[in-house]
Amino acid sequence: MLLKSIRGVKDLRGKRVLVRVDYNVPIDNGKIKEDYKIAESLATLRYLRRHGARLILLTHLGKPKTEADWPKYSVEPIAKRLSKMLDCKVAVSAEVSGLKSASAVAKLGDGDVLMLANVRYEAGEEKNDARFAKRLAELAEIYVNDAFAVCHRAHASVSAISKYLPAYAGFLLEDEIKALTRALEPVQPMISIIGGAKISSKTGLVKVLAKKSHKVIIGGALANNFLLARGYETGLSLVDEESIAFARSLKAKNILLPEDAVVKSYVDGDAVRVKNISDIGKKDTILDIGPKTIALYASYIREAATIVWNGPMGRFEEKPFRAGTIALAQFAGARARGRAFAVAGGGETVEAIKLAKADHDFDWISTGGGAMLSFLGGERMPGLEPLKA
Ligand code: ADP
Ligand code: MG
Repeated sequence: MLLKSIRGVKDLRGKRVLVRVDYNVPIDNGKIKEDYKIAESLATLRYLRRHGARLILLTHLGKPKTEADWPKYSVEPIAKRLSKMLDCKVAVSAEVSGLKSASAVAKLGDGDVLMLANVRYEAGEEKNDARFAKRLAELAEIYVNDAFAVCHRAHASVSAISKYLPAYAGFLLEDEIKALTRALEPVQPMISIIGGAKISSKTGLVKVLAKKSHKVIIGGALANNFLLARGYETGLSLVDEESIAFARSLKAKNILLPEDAVVKSYVDGDAVRVKNISDIGKKDTILDIGPKTIALYASYIREAATIVWNGPMGRFEEKPFRAGTIALAQFAGARARGRAFAVAGGGETVEAIKLAKADHDFDWISTGGGAMLSFLGGERMPGLEPLKA
């Protein structure tokens, strides 16, 4: 998929450019805990500043419901951090669109940066409201989308706005599409790793990746549905009806399932133990893949030329159920350092890969969870359509 690049814009000097970024970062008591997403956007911002554009940045942050929530979801801490990273002043507007924003925009000189308020203060955002999009568009002359993580959503600042301004893709968005496209046109053998707990959102992905991959490694709660569909006892493990039905209907022959698991067992108190899948009892909860499964999965990862990963292998947030995810992250990282092209994405997946200190070994760590699933699953994405070259 080819997107219209900001490199194609002839004269940026003095132009007001509205950049939709994804700075939806974890903030605790006004402190940013992880600024990966901000760092990834810098290339686009620096390019635009260097060419004399006047930057108007716009992001969503969390899910503010009423006006009482607004202070908690203020973009002020982000603007401060960005100001340090860019080494320039970042002004902040108290509103999204409107007179205050318009006058702040009017004050911008070439290369200056203004950040609008959290776009989710506006009810029109998630409704893809045309009037709101038009008001936003009036602030600028050019629109740049660098927020891959929301491109699967029909929201006003991602979709409707492109009706009112010439629209381009930022560098981060372009890089995302390049990396994920490479995963969809894989050098074989491709090994896909799918796990996690948001199961019903991943069935489409499993289908597509099963067609393209040499093997699909299944772990996490997703695996439970497949095991149940094949007649195994899964005890108290997390499953859902829709995913069990999906597991039953999937005809693919290249699906790998766990042979053993780390379970929480309630039979004799609250014990953690390793069990073969055929020995899982009614009071067991599967919370990680076991050592035999790690070895089996690693044997495939070691031969991979392409690796795509979404979803942890277990409840890695808790120490006793961490080993499977960490081990696979390290095997995949080691393979990516040498022979394989490896991409990963998903909120918790990325967290786990960082915990394993393997993030620098991957060729691409996506900034989008749901958006990556959507793109790899071949869905039409409202944020990408208007940017197609
Ligand atoms: P991502 O955000 O990477 O796409 P998901 O949101 O689908 O991943 O799932 C991540 C969550 O899945 C993690 O918080 C993890 O604790 C949970 N998880 C993984 N395996 C299991 C399991 N066997 N049982 C319950 N929860 C699990
Ligand atoms: Mg998640």
